[in-house]
Amino acid sequence: MISGSQEMIRDINRRLVLENIVNNGPISRAALAKVLHLTKATISNIVQELLDQKLVTEIGSGDTAMGRKPIMLAFPQDSGHALAVNIGVEQITLLTSDLKGQNCAVREYPFPQREPLLKYLIRILHSTIDSLPATTHGVVGISIAIYGVVYENTLLFTPYYKMPQPDLCSLLEEEFRIPVKAENEANLSVLGESAFHFNYQDMIMINVHDGIGMGILIEGHLYTGHNGYAGEFGHTILYPNGKLCPCGNRGCIEQYASETAILKEYARRRYLPSITLDDFLYAYRSNEPVAMDMMDLFVQYMSIAINNVQNTFNADLIVLNSAFTNYIPDLLQRIQNSLGTMQNRDCRVILSQLQDISGLIGGVRISVENFLEIEHLKIDAATLGTR
Ligand SMILES: [Zn+2]
Repeated sequence: MISGSQEMIRDINRRLVLENIVNNGPISRAALAKVLHLTKATISNIVQELLDQKLVTEIGSGDTAMGRKPIMLAFPQDSGHALAVNIGVEQITLLTSDLKGQNCAVREYPFPQREPLLKYLIRILHSTIDSLPATTHGVVGISIAIYGVVYENTLLFTPYYKMPQPDLCSLLEEEFRIPVKAENEANLSVLGESAFHFNYQDMIMINVHDGIGMGILIEGHLYTGHNGYAGEFGHTILYPNGKLCPCGNRGCIEQYASETAILKEYARRRYLPSITLDDFLYAYRSNEPVAMDMMDLFVQYMSIAINNVQNTFNADLIVLNSAFTNYIPDLLQRIQNSLGTMQNRDCRVILSQLQDISGLIGGVRISVENFLEIEHLKIDAATLGTR
């Protein structure tokens, strides 16, 4: 009989072995033993179990200086699929990928106007699953990114669209018999982005869309707070007695610095009923003075935001994702220059590599990590392909 602690050690070793094969493979049994400081017998036992579960395959042989050619262990990343759904304000995006977040296909659907969201999701998920080629493990998980607050897989609050059923995940699990995990979009984004920046353990992702979300990674793990409300950065207050926000407070930063707020303010100053992002970008590129003023303001707001975030977390990496910085990348340099005059001079701020799909890749990550029972899935940016 195996005692509790022996079982725990075996589970940890299994996780480490699989994580190494998935993230650093193809790798030999001998190399695994060396890297993990485990005996060859322990490695062989675990590998046999993983081979039986079809989570690992043996491939060809690797060359060594001695001329011996050991069998290499690889992760069959095309042996299953992950599905990631993003429930945005105006549209629903669905991404399918293999088990390493690669060979992605992205589809966009309008947010349903009449059909109930659950029914709509079931319909588009069924048609997507039916279109996927058959694999050993099938669809290993579905993730749902929500603009709002999620706590322990239950939806608590969505400020910008009608609140779906709080137990949306369990209803979808009943329908598909596949694990379904929901999480706040910015939280998934920091997980997605960190799959590429593997060496950064304390990382903050600031997502500027209709609102402003923040994902917090501490020591490599997502931090969601006491009941899921951590990172609601858009609702930190910039102006006392300022503009009213759907959260009930006044002067929240997202009422001034979000994409929607900037475009709205630009339209107001130009006496226009509204403006699209494309038209705004055209005005900015044509050096139209009000558009230039709006980007000065955006730089100022983001500098304040990043300064406050950095003075709170002292993160080793801050990733900024906004349509303005994505289309006008020199805004980043201006934000950095502005930060130079503040306390956190050496803070590394970069633009998002994944942009709009960061949350979806984060979703793939949680589905695959949950399926494989590993803690960190590394995704190789260079080979991220879409089809
Ligand atoms: Zn607010």
